[in-house]
Amino acid sequence: MKPPVVSDVDRDLVVNEAFGPTFQGEGPSTGRYAHFIRLFGCHLSCTWCDTPQTHDPARHDLAAEQRILSIEDILSWLASTPADLLVITGGEPLLQPRALERLLCAIRERELATDVEIETSGTIAPTDVLISAVTRFNVSPKLAHSGLRRRQRIRPAVLRDLAGSGKAVWKFVVQQVDDLDEVQELVGTYGLHPVWIMPEGTDSSTVLARMRLLADPVLARRWHLSTRLHTLLWENSRGR
Ligand code: SF4
Repeated sequence: MKPPVVSDVDRDLVVNEAFGPTFQGEGPSTGRYAHFIRLFGCHLSCTWCDTPQTHDPARHDLAAEQRILSIEDILSWLASTPADLLVITGGEPLLQPRALERLLCAIRERELATDVEIETSGTIAPTDVLISAVTRFNVSPKLAHSGLRRRQRIRPAVLRDLAGSGKAVWKFVVQQVDDLDEVQELVGTYGLHPVWIMPEGTDSSTVLARMRLLADPVLARRWHLSTRLHTLLWENSRGR
């Protein structure tokens, strides 16, 4: 296997894929017309990860899964296909903070997207520039069923920083009703609000079955329920 590509950390982004238009499939913006940039790389290894191509050499040829895009490359793409909502996802986008800052500031200057959301695991603190430039962080702290040790997946100072930014929503990936107790403990300990519960699953029948199981218990806790709209529509297709 070829070694991973290394980018200029300020000028370029290491990207797995860029695609759209499609719909934002998860969380508060579900159903919005959206474009996605999926950044390459993740420092975690959730057992059920739905984007292993961003970081898992056991399942993917990582050299083939990454490409270097300059900020100007991405701006040109956005200029040619205007975005209402741009979603920056991963992988873990906050592993590339400086280039991301430059991208978001340029998008704002050139008015190339109405809103920008960054999806993150909540284990890396965002910079002040990113907090200022982003519309919202969709933060997804991982639960025990991810297979990660607690100290890998729960970083108290980062959760508090994100909560204090005033721009975070908390989207928990849940497999079964009992997982909601773990969510409750995190929500109470770190003051996380608002809370969205999303079923784990990469096929429509699993997503729907888990949503049906979770619906009433989520309502009882006064939280929100997210689907995975892209999975209901297109199953596990990439680039949708
Ligand atoms: S944090 Fe996200 S990208 Fe990283 S391993 Fe977990 S699910 Fe996959």
